[in-house]
Amino acid sequence: MRQHNGLPRNSSTHPCPGKVFFVGAGPGDPGLVTLRGVRCLRQADLVLYDYLVNALVLKHSPPRAEMVGLGHHATKKIDQEAIHRLMIEAAWAGKTVVRLKGGDPTVFGRSAEEIEALESAGVPFEVVPGVTAATAAAAYTGISITHGDYSSAVALVTGQERHSKKAPPLDYAALARFPGTVVFYMGVTSAAQWSHAMLREGKPPDTPVAIVRRCSWSDQSTSRCTLGTVAETIAAEGIRPPAVILVGEVVAHAGRDSWFTRRPLFGQRILVTRPRQQVEAFADLLADYGAEVLVQPAIEIADPEDWRPVDRALGRLAEYHWVVFSSANGVNRFLDRLAQLGSDLRTLAPVKLAAIGPGTAEALAAYRLHADLVPDQYRAEALAEALVEQAPGRRFLLVRASRGREVLAERLTGAGGAVEQVVAYQSLDVVQPDPDIAAALRGGQIDWITVTSSAIAKSLVRLFGDDLRRAKLASISPITSETLRFLGYAPTAEASEYTMNGLAAAILATVVT
Ligand code: SAH
Repeated sequence: MRQHNGLPRNSSTHPCPGKVFFVGAGPGDPGLVTLRGVRCLRQADLVLYDYLVNALVLKHSPPRAEMVGLGHHATKKIDQEAIHRLMIEAAWAGKTVVRLKGGDPTVFGRSAEEIEALESAGVPFEVVPGVTAATAAAAYTGISITHGDYSSAVALVTGQERHSKKAPPLDYAALARFPGTVVFYMGVTSAAQWSHAMLREGKPPDTPVAIVRRCSWSDQSTSRCTLGTVAETIAAEGIRPPAVILVGEVVAHAGRDSWFTRRPLFGQRILVTRPRQQVEAFADLLADYGAEVLVQPAIEIADPEDWRPVDRALGRLAEYHWVVFSSANGVNRFLDRLAQLGSDLRTLAPVKLAAIGPGTAEALAAYRLHADLVPDQYRAEALAEALVEQAPGRRFLLVRASRGREVLAERLTGAGGAVEQVVAYQSLDVVQPDPDIAAALRGGQIDWITVTSSAIAKSLVRLFGDDLRRAKLASISPITSETLRFLGYAPTAEASEYTMNGLAAAILATVVT
């Protein structure tokens, strides 16, 4: 490899073994990254990301990937040359590099310079587009930047001109005459300059303007004013970047709020604390209602210390009348173990299956197994109630967690059943909170914490202590609420149906009234 300017250089005999992907992360909403962008992130060894990128997008990268934050408020302050060097060196070392940028990488993203550096160093690259702030602002505010009646063209303009010799200065006379919507990026701190320049060149001062801050994030805000008042509006309202500023007639022809801000949980930041494997569906449900979801598992699910009791039970399933599952985790662990032992679901043919609630029944259904019994109320007492009648002389296998309540075993034994309990998984407390989450909670930036079991309640108190009072607690059931109250933290909302849907509904009811 030859050296040039201290950087590794291309040579036809040794092509560069790595590659750089410029990926657009979108404006904020983690759902706005492309499938191809996600595929690149999944393969990444090194991710260089800009400060505007949502941390949830970063989570698509594998745990082994090195993550380096760049730009304002970044983990490392780093200049453009150093970014080039990092990418080039990593690619020549055979790494897959993702250069993750806010919005679209080619819109005011300095990609051209970075691409030039890669080309002269013989590093292969690809570019994956993203949703840029201007079109996201249009979608998330309802202000269409083109419009059949009012705007047939759009200009994307920077409010921070670099005074380089290569680029001509912005032609404000042309911009003032531009027949369509003008969208200013990076125009918050420079609003006085560009708005005055436009006015000087004859753009009417009453031209409608919308300042769209943090679009597609849960704290998106829109301020409306006119070209004549945009600078003072920014000063008076204390508006800080990032914001795009839409200038043009279309602003006057859109409603005040949009589908995005009308969603019932818009503006609510909700912390989900379930074990990592179970976060997704619940997080998606809350996000669909418009919430911003943060994740901090309070417990994690692990193999039991000893599989032998489970293995023995699996070896003689036909001896039980009922196999009773008290969680979806129990179902998954127990049935996966069955497969690991070289057996299959036919072994379950002679027994009846009980599930404590619909989530557990759904876990069975995923294996094409139908629960013979699901009580109307999703708690151990109700399950016991439903089973006691047939308990005398019957054999029950209870599949459970290392920690759990004894109610069911006691009731069934008391009613004359023969009960055997096996531990199919351990639930362990997470001991170290994510520092960003801890800081957000302490700073009062989290609105709700969802508490989906007593074990989670206890672990949360150990993780966050009194900082838990800085958010509202949403409890899945009266039993979990009781635990919370016992610990000194009364919940604000409680689900009346003890499921994730029920919990989301309880939060909704509190927020909407
Ligand atoms: N490549 C990015 C732009 C980077 S320049 C893109 O395509 O969107 C940074 C500027 O982008 C900010 O100053 C702001 O004007 C705009 N911007 C980025 N994210 C934004 C958001 N979520 N809401 C409003 N403006 C945003």
